[in-house]
Amino acid sequence: MKILIASRNAHKIQEIREIFDLPGVEWVSTAAFPDLHDVEEDGETFEANAIKKATELARATGLWALADDSGLEVEALGNAPGVYSARYAGEPCNHANNNAKLLRELAGNKNRAARFRCVAALSDPVGRAETVSGSCPGRIVGELRGAKGFGYDPLFVPDGFEKTFAEMGNEQKNRLSHRGRALALAKEKWGALIASDAAGFPR
Ligand code: IMP
Repeated sequence: MKILIASRNAHKIQEIREIFDLPGVEWVSTAAFPDLHDVEEDGETFEANAIKKATELARATGLWALADDSGLEVEALGNAPGVYSARYAGEPCNHANNNAKLLRELAGNKNRAARFRCVAALSDPVGRAETVSGSCPGRIVGELRGAKGFGYDPLFVPDGFEKTFAEMGNEQKNRLSHRGRALALAKEKWGALIASDAAGFPR
């Protein structure tokens, strides 16, 4: 059975392939479909964006499709940046500007509680989707620490640890992370269905 991963991010694709190590399943990325349109992530929740990406791409290709949407929620900022995490600081859109803005917004604030969230959606070829969600609670530190990872990793320390995600190895981060947790739940929930080569979700 072929399943489309709704991403061009090579790191994400590799992580999904490793977690869903299922016999008979061939994972393909959107890079294999150069004519596919880009799905606009204009939803107000992670769920809405993940479902939109998975269902649009499943219908367009006739394949099962797995999509995810993720971001950072900071308690003192009313859960911002949330679905706007990638473009928090506006143009030019980059991680350095986003981190600088987050530090400015939290300057002097004692409440540093935050969490990463990830919602993964699986759609069957006719566009019926289900979701799972994973989160990783932690806190935002006062200065950038570490050079690994991406995005807000240098500012985020998960609960129970002292290192930021950017100071940890990939393996440790993937075990703790919102995406790792969502994908582990996805395997639990859909692994058997995927491995059975089903034509669609049972209804
Ligand atoms: P996406 O869902 O992978 O597109 O992530 C949206 C944005 O959320 C990214 O551009 C990052 O700013 C942030 N983000 C999501 N996951 C992580 C993570 O594991 N570490 C750091 N930042 C993340």
